[in-house]
Amino acid sequence: MSSNSNASREATEQQAKESPVSESALETARRQLHHAAESLDIDPNIVERLKHPKRVQEVAVPIKRDDGSVDVFSGYRAQHDSVRGPYKGGLRYHPEVTRDECVGLSMWMTWKCAVMDLPFGGAKGGVAVNPKELSKAEKERLTRRFTEELREIIGPNQDIPAPDMGTNPQTMAWMMDAYSMQEGETTPGVVTGKPPIVGGSEGREEAPGRSVALITRLACEYYDRDLDGTTVAVQGYGSVGANAARLLDEWGATIVAVSDVNGALYDPDGIDTDSVPSHDEEPEAVTRDADTVISNDELLTLDVDVLIPAALGNVITQDNAADIEADLVVEGANGPITATADAILETRDISVIPDILANAGGVTVSYFEWLQDINRRAWSLERVYDELETEMERAWRAVQTEFERHDVTWRDAAYIVALSRIAAAHETRGLWP
Ligand code: NAD
Repeated sequence: MSSNSNASREATEQQAKESPVSESALETARRQLHHAAESLDIDPNIVERLKHPKRVQEVAVPIKRDDGSVDVFSGYRAQHDSVRGPYKGGLRYHPEVTRDECVGLSMWMTWKCAVMDLPFGGAKGGVAVNPKELSKAEKERLTRRFTEELREIIGPNQDIPAPDMGTNPQTMAWMMDAYSMQEGETTPGVVTGKPPIVGGSEGREEAPGRSVALITRLACEYYDRDLDGTTVAVQGYGSVGANAARLLDEWGATIVAVSDVNGALYDPDGIDTDSVPSHDEEPEAVTRDADTVISNDELLTLDVDVLIPAALGNVITQDNAADIEADLVVEGANGPITATADAILETRDISVIPDILANAGGVTVSYFEWLQDINRRAWSLERVYDELETEMERAWRAVQTEFERHDVTWRDAAYIVALSRIAAAHETRGLWP
């Protein structure tokens, strides 16, 4: 596969977006498992089982390029734990996809599904390829062949992929078609995140940002903070950041800063979030008409009530954790705070609401999509919003209970909720044979 300096720089940036610098996704997932297990009376044999994925499928994916040559890419699907239901998790097309990264991220998905009490276990997969170097036709051929290579281990009752980095609703539509053609029946429930015309759910795209806003509102309520007059800074104005910022704005919060990769638009009197183009509407245009532009580093250390890092992983580190002025940090991105920074924020009494709860609206609406596909009946957008709100509130209450009972951080409380559900299911089912 060809590579150039641009592609490798992009790969490094994307990798930084998802994986902590100091440790791999797998190390982080195992560390969090041990940490949560310490607070609970769990059979160590169950913890040992959870350290290992049930299966990792590694496949070669050959495709014919548009010029007639053939390239072969490596693909993976890691399935971590299915004690509570079929595996669920994204598929990414990215040059840095590895077996270990898929395993670590599949474990995160297990915790995320369990904290939301969804009847799923965790999975993750992908193909080590730069999708920007493929034509649309090549991407379609890659997706169809990859689907065929995974066909034996995916399915609505086995493992249900979804879009992730480098894949999108069209990718899921091709997967659904490839699977359905080989199975001899239209099977929309094999993937989620499809376009609504082929069984996708209304409200799926904005769901992670919506859940970030809902959880921010619940956290503000918990700390007796009225959203009216609460100041918020949001890093990243993409799917997660823009949806969260606009909803909080609509609910009365004062959004004082939003940013993209070029910098942050800052207005202490409040930004009209609808007038700022999101990444999807117009990429990297946040600061174009701004009177006051500050850097992303400055945004993170603004003296605001709530900070929502919703762009990249590892933006709050040991270098800036002591300078964070917000009272509450809600993780919109995956892994925006390193483990060291997390410890510093804890000693400074800054509350951090973790990603596995805050941005879990995506997998929750994926669950709604799966239900709609199985029942062959689409829900209205209003119903999706209502049920998402109910599920987010339910998850919040469960985490709040453990937060108060164990006197731990919100992150630890979320992991305790997840692990106790998974461990109880293992205990109840037992070990076969
Ligand atoms: P996106 O591509 O829609 O938007 C990303 C935004 O971040 C853009 O505004 C971009 O300009 C900005 N950005 C990029 N690099 C930056 C930098 N160095 N400094 C500041 N801003 C920068 O992405 P998204 O889908 O909103 O995802 C954002 C984060 O949320 C990622 O960590 C992603 O993994 C996580 N997440 C996304 C979803 C989802 O379904 N979209 C679900 C859960 C978690």
